[in-house]
Amino acid sequence: MDNKAKKIIIAIDGFSSSGKSTMAKELARRIGYRYIDSGAMYRAVTLYALDHGMIREDGTVDTEALTAALGDIHIDFLPCADGQHTLLNGRDVEQEIRSLRVSSSVSPVAVIPAVRHALVAQQQAFGKERGIVMDGRDIGTTVFPDAELKIYVNAPAATRARRRWLELQQKGDKDSTYEQVLENVMTRDHIDMTREESPLRRADDAIDLDNSDMTIEQQDEWLIDRFNHAVGK
Ligand code: C5P
Repeated sequence: MDNKAKKIIIAIDGFSSSGKSTMAKELARRIGYRYIDSGAMYRAVTLYALDHGMIREDGTVDTEALTAALGDIHIDFLPCADGQHTLLNGRDVEQEIRSLRVSSSVSPVAVIPAVRHALVAQQQAFGKERGIVMDGRDIGTTVFPDAELKIYVNAPAATRARRRWLELQQKGDKDSTYEQVLENVMTRDHIDMTREESPLRRADDAIDLDNSDMTIEQQDEWLIDRFNHAVGK
C-alpha cells in the first residue's frame, strides 16, 4: 500500500498539563510523524514579549507593540536526542519557555487575534505535507478542522497541577509551590475557555480521553490503537 497516501493529521487538544504533549510526542516518534507543540509557539512569543518589556507590571500586554513585532519573531523546532527544542530567533529557549514566568503570561498573549493568526498560519504550513501530530487547544477546531484523528484530553485541574508541579520540581524549580501552580492552571483554563478567538472547545468529531487513572504506557497504547483505527490498520 502507498504509505504516502495514508499520512494523516492528528490533532490532540486539551487543557494545560493534561499530558497531551507527552502522548503526542511519543505517538509521533512511534509512527515516524513530525510532532509540533503549538503551546510552545505561544510560549515563545510570550518570552519575546517579556524580554522586550511588552508585558506590564499588572500582567496586561502591550498589544500594539507585540503586533508590530510579530514579523521579527521567528519560531522553529530543532530535533534533539530528547525530542525537540523550541528556537526563538535561532536561540534555544526550550527550558525558559516552561518557566512559571512564561506560564503566567502566556494566556493573555494567546488571546491576541494577531498573535493567533500568525501562529495558526505557521501551524497550517507545518501540516501541509500531512504526517503530523500537533497538540494544543484549537488544533481540531481551527488549525486542522479536517484532521483525520482528533483527540480531546481532559483530567481534573488538581491532577494536572500536581503533574506540572512535579515536573517543575524535577527540573530544579524549588520556588514554585503546588498552590501557585494550581492557581496558574485554573486561571489558564478559564482564559483558554472563555476567550473570543479560538477558545478551547472540543471538536464535534473528537474522541474523548480522561487519562486521570491511566499510566503513560496505557495512554500511549490507547492512542496507537486510535491511530491504527484511523488509518484502517
Ligand atoms: O500547551 P501549553 O500549556 O504549553 O500552552 C501554553 C498556553 O498557550 C496555553 O495556556 C494557551 O493559553 C496557549 N495555547 C493556545 N492555543 C494553542 C496552544 C496553546 O492558546 N493551540
